[in-house]
Amino acid sequence: MIEVNQLSKRFNDLQVLQQIDFQMKSKEIVVLLGPSGSGKSTLLRCLNGLEEPDSGTIRMDDVTWDAAMDRSVKREAIKRIRLMSGMVFQSFHLFSHMTVLQNITAAPMLVKNMSAKQAAELAERLLTKVGLLEKKHEYPSRLSGGQQQRVAIARSLAMQPKVMLFDEPTSALDPELTGEVLQVMKDLAVEGMTMIVVTHEMKFAREVANRVIFMSDGVIQEESTPDQFFIQPETERARRFLRQLG
Ligand code: ADP
Ligand code: MG
Repeated sequence: MIEVNQLSKRFNDLQVLQQIDFQMKSKEIVVLLGPSGSGKSTLLRCLNGLEEPDSGTIRMDDVTWDAAMDRSVKREAIKRIRLMSGMVFQSFHLFSHMTVLQNITAAPMLVKNMSAKQAAELAERLLTKVGLLEKKHEYPSRLSGGQQQRVAIARSLAMQPKVMLFDEPTSALDPELTGEVLQVMKDLAVEGMTMIVVTHEMKFAREVANRVIFMSDGVIQEESTPDQFFIQPETERARRFLRQLG
């Protein structure tokens, strides 16, 4: 489903991603862990076309992006990759001047030429899934953080992505609100969504992930099953990371 080869990204003098290689299958749940500044967000942003890698290739389903391709070919590939991957951020980024329903229907109507009626039906189905149908006419400012994040997930799902990328989706939430967001993510996992999740929620990682990838300093240091990673990490860097979590 996803194959990344020799992906590198630099910001000025800082090599943020160094020749990253990884593959994932459809329906896999990968949790990406690592200390702050290790390049997790940058990797997700590269997979969503928000950052352009300096070198390497990204293949997602039937689309290949290669740093060495022509600019116009790359632009086409990135457009298609972006449509395939839904991204959920730490800060929810909802459109504040739109209702919950409008937040979800906007992109399918604009980008996929869906009719207003079809888009509204889809939005209502997704709002039911995240438990917020009764909030469809509210504005985001009237919702709790957990509710806003669930709307953000529904909005991403409305574009029918093949993979969902979550970048610390619960880090901005009060502890009592993280559970409802994690539950929505667990439901998605059970339904067979392919997911890459950056999170500090180790219980979620242990319960839901098929695989843990541990990064530091822009390099994948370790890749293993959650049990293996949490019980017997291979590298000293990972052991230190886990100790610091307490
Ligand atoms: P993580 O998500 O693991 O905390 P990031 O991918 O956000 O790490 O950042 C990795 C490194 O790249 C950090 O040192 C960060 O300061 C730097 N960085 C991220 N984005 C930019 C940018 N747009 N410009 C310059 N440096 C950046
Ligand atoms: Mg980050």
